[in-house]
Amino acid sequence: MTSHIGHWIDGAPSASASGRTAPVFDPATGVQSGEVGLADAKEVDAAVASAVHAATQWRFSSLSKRAAVLFTFRELLNARSDDLAAIITAEHGKVLADAAGEIARGLENAEYATGIPNLLKGGYSEQVSTGVDVHSVRQPLGVVAGITPFNFPAMVPLWMCCNAIACGNAFVLKPSEKDPSASLFLAELWKDAGLPDGVFTVVQGDKVAVDRILSHPDIAAVSFVGSTPIARYIYETGTANGKRVQALGGAKNHMLVLPDAEVDVAADAAVSAAYGAAGERCMAVAVVVAVGDIADPLVAAIKDRLSSLTIGHGTAEDTDMGPLITAAHRDKVASYVAAGASAGATLVVDGRDREASDHPEHGFFLGTTLIDHVTPDMSVYTDEIFGPVLSVVRVDTFEEGLALINGHPYANGTAIFTRDGGAARTFQQEVLVGMVGVNVPIPVPVAYYSFGGWKSSLFGDSHMYGPEGVTFYTRGKVVTTRWPDPATSRVDLGFPRTR
Ligand code: NAD
Repeated sequence: MTSHIGHWIDGAPSASASGRTAPVFDPATGVQSGEVGLADAKEVDAAVASAVHAATQWRFSSLSKRAAVLFTFRELLNARSDDLAAIITAEHGKVLADAAGEIARGLENAEYATGIPNLLKGGYSEQVSTGVDVHSVRQPLGVVAGITPFNFPAMVPLWMCCNAIACGNAFVLKPSEKDPSASLFLAELWKDAGLPDGVFTVVQGDKVAVDRILSHPDIAAVSFVGSTPIARYIYETGTANGKRVQALGGAKNHMLVLPDAEVDVAADAAVSAAYGAAGERCMAVAVVVAVGDIADPLVAAIKDRLSSLTIGHGTAEDTDMGPLITAAHRDKVASYVAAGASAGATLVVDGRDREASDHPEHGFFLGTTLIDHVTPDMSVYTDEIFGPVLSVVRVDTFEEGLALINGHPYANGTAIFTRDGGAARTFQQEVLVGMVGVNVPIPVPVAYYSFGGWKSSLFGDSHMYGPEGVTFYTRGKVVTTRWPDPATSRVDLGFPRTR
């Protein structure tokens, strides 16, 4: 018996009547746990109509009222974190501790948005001309939409909705159809926090819902996070329809390890960043670039650590790594391992070997893979794999490593491991990547900075959350004011001057 997972419209659950559904699985057992309704255009229209109505009122709510809702939402999310983590693990498969980590990083965005009275302060200039003053304000856009990926079913929606709502917009979320339930939990928390009905809306769906969002005349802006081909499509279609769009895409994050790095520190970091959440993170390290003679000891140290990782159900306390999201994705990742081997790379650890022996219960598991002697022409290097596969590319010099990273079309995150401050400084200055770690393998910016990659990892001008998020969800207005004095008033056809 599977449950129906529907929408959240006008402050209440709403079953989908489109007649189209998609299965939702527990990836750790491979058993279907639910079916999610896939909205048709009519259902999207109903959701947006409710959001439009709510937005016209919410934009006039006081800043202190909005901040109060955000504070309460933050408290509720914190108090219910374990419940939400369980929902995430049940549909995504990541271990509970990792799900809790995702919520903690999402929570930061609620905390940032509680400062909205300060964040929306404008500027004021008195007496720009005689008797004339100027001030600037930032106003909400109206209804904005978020389209999110499967890998962070709570954190990525929180990247978007906290700022969007605090800025005075109504927010329509279209979550991934692979793990849709976290979105409904967030909707309940918003309601319990006192957010008026219709300000936070969830429309479940696939391309049909997305395409209606992209063409809907009442949606002013779209935030997207997902794979690069879809990000490009969202950006091109949304902007062609006159919308403001920020579309974050895929990644292939490199970790450059210099010969002077501490081998154990670098190996710990590489293993944590490559295999955490089974590699299904947009900031996962996918490639270690080993410079000079550190390669042999580093590969050995990484290999050593892999044998002690426990792979299993995300709810078990001793599990380090859970399954992949679907059987099809597991098979695709495994096919990259095969392609790497047949292209001539060295399989130091083959994750396909662990799959069957450890998990006879047919979950979507794949063990950890470590591939050495990878070269830049191999698909295991060029493509985003999004699984527990770490490639090692060996180079002779720092410059060669930097050039390799700068030549890759993906440019989300990167890291350097070294004890050489000069090399680290050159790296952070010259690397063509949006987020950089120095001895930090997963440099996800805190919520009061903004998140975003370069090149094929982001389409649009605006990074997500933080100050750029507030700018994205508002538009500026400048007001020039004079209180006329009838005694000096006269007709003047000249262009206004300030002297
Ligand atoms: P995806 O691109 O398949 O799906 C993302 C969203 O787009 C989902 O809501 C999905 O329903 C929708 N979608 C899918 N196909 C579509 C189509 N043809 N037309 C319109 N909409 C469509 O991504 P995913 O598999 O859910 O997530 C993994 C990807 O997300 C990886 O590439 C990962 O790197 C990326 N990601 C990037 C970041 C970042 O910050 N740059 C963060 C998280 C994930």
